Amino acid sequence: MPPARIQQALRQFQSVLGADRTFFTDEDATSYQDKFAIDDALHHPAGALAPETVEEIQALVRIAAEHKVPLWPISRGKNLGYGGSAPELAGSVVLDLSRMKKIEYDEANGTVLLEPGVGFYDLYDFLQARGMKHWLSTPGNAWGSVVGNALDRGVGYTPYGENTSKICGMEVVLADGSVVRTGMGALAGSPTWQLYRYGFGPAWDQMFVQSNFGIVTKMGLWLMPEPESLMGMDLEFDSPEDLGPLIDALGPLRREGLLQQSPTIGNWLRAAAVLTTRSEWTDQPGALSDAVIAAIRAKYRIGWWGVSLRLYGREAVNKAAYPILEKAMNDLKPMTLRPATWKRGEPLEHSGWTGTPITFPMQNANWHGGRGGHLGFSPVLPQSGNAAMAQFKRTYDRYREFGMDYQASFAFGERHLINVNVALLDKDDPAMMGKVDPFLRQLVADAKAQGYGEYRTHLDYMDLVAQTYDFGGNALLKLNQRVKNALDPSGIIAPGKSGIWADANLGASA
Ligand code: ADP
Repeated sequence: MPPARIQQALRQFQSVLGADRTFFTDEDATSYQDKFAIDDALHHPAGALAPETVEEIQALVRIAAEHKVPLWPISRGKNLGYGGSAPELAGSVVLDLSRMKKIEYDEANGTVLLEPGVGFYDLYDFLQARGMKHWLSTPGNAWGSVVGNALDRGVGYTPYGENTSKICGMEVVLADGSVVRTGMGALAGSPTWQLYRYGFGPAWDQMFVQSNFGIVTKMGLWLMPEPESLMGMDLEFDSPEDLGPLIDALGPLRREGLLQQSPTIGNWLRAAAVLTTRSEWTDQPGALSDAVIAAIRAKYRIGWWGVSLRLYGREAVNKAAYPILEKAMNDLKPMTLRPATWKRGEPLEHSGWTGTPITFPMQNANWHGGRGGHLGFSPVLPQSGNAAMAQFKRTYDRYREFGMDYQASFAFGERHLINVNVALLDKDDPAMMGKVDPFLRQLVADAKAQGYGEYRTHLDYMDLVAQTYDFGGNALLKLNQRVKNALDPSGIIAPGKSGIWADANLGASA
């Protein structure tokens, strides 16, 4: 039963949406909890609202402001490992935008204008029905929303893999109920909204990314034209020490543009956790022994590290670039190098490299059995083999110290690496679950000591991570709070997202 403040607002919410799109039973609220959190109940929402139009969102925001009811917007809420559909502040009302599913497609220019509820599968089906002239950039688990993923800076693996950098123009509902369009969208009726990012004057798209300054109701996105061919290779490397040289070989190729894709180097468990479960190999608690690791790797013929590289585009260009890539990799003496090619018209391999939606990597949540889950720790590093090796060793030691199985990847951006470390969980194992929070906090502190910060984090660590960005006495966080107070003085949109709170929220919780 929601508190009195929400009860009053609820009548008004229902007058906008009708009873069938307001969800406030205990069962409803529980279904929006974060099933992967250390404690599901910590971010328990009061209920949820499911608007279908911008006008309904405007009306809901105005009611929320009147009754000081915090709203937590989600697109499809599949952000598992970072909070799923749950709000940072318990008692918030989830604004579930998953029913807003319109797609506008500009085939000539390769752009779409999407509503938040459009999933990767929806967009894939839509493009397939129109001849697949453009490809998606899909994350490892592609059951979420295209807009939600770009808004949380999720990544894919094609040359358009940094999804947030492909945003071009948004429509946003602000906390006062007004609607703004960014970039060229500010010029009513402009045919260039999805073509030129900046408009005139300051450009605001990134202001609404990983933030709580507004509710995004439409997002423009550039899509990659279907390439004529793919050429590349799947590689396995035998030793943990191979990571540094591999990064130093790929980094310059990535920066010069020979490699336009953002490859991800994953460790053996990243591959194995979707193929098998821990109990098939050992019943010993604590981090896996080297003997067990060797046995799993031998059975599935996987390296300590693996990476897939792909060249995209004209066949003649790919054929010229391929030998350069192949030589750079053969110089490193990989355990295996399996060439991979594709030409337009051939059936597509379903994978991140081809931008096809897949969900099987989700299987890793079952590594320990029981009620599975995972949480991540993902610092941004320079593209340096030495820096990556040092970070790997430091983190690997911590995994062993805390008795956790090490699963990690190093994902290339254009100039940076993101080192995604995953804590695979069994929520039915209290001994393990007691260690997870101190473990993750330790990793944040270790990274901070090196000057590294996370690119994205779970709800539980948003304040902690925001605090690590501490130049000038947390000057950036203070700027964010000032913007928040100016735009949303009652603190009703996603309080606490990325560590940003309005003064009104802090007063309320004091
Ligand atoms: P996905 O379904 O792709 O995993 P989510 O819906 O879980 O994406 O969104 C990820 C996060 O991004 C949410 O937790 C929320 O903080 C933010 N977010 C999602 N959609 C919106 C939106 N339309 N407006 C503002 N913030 C949003």
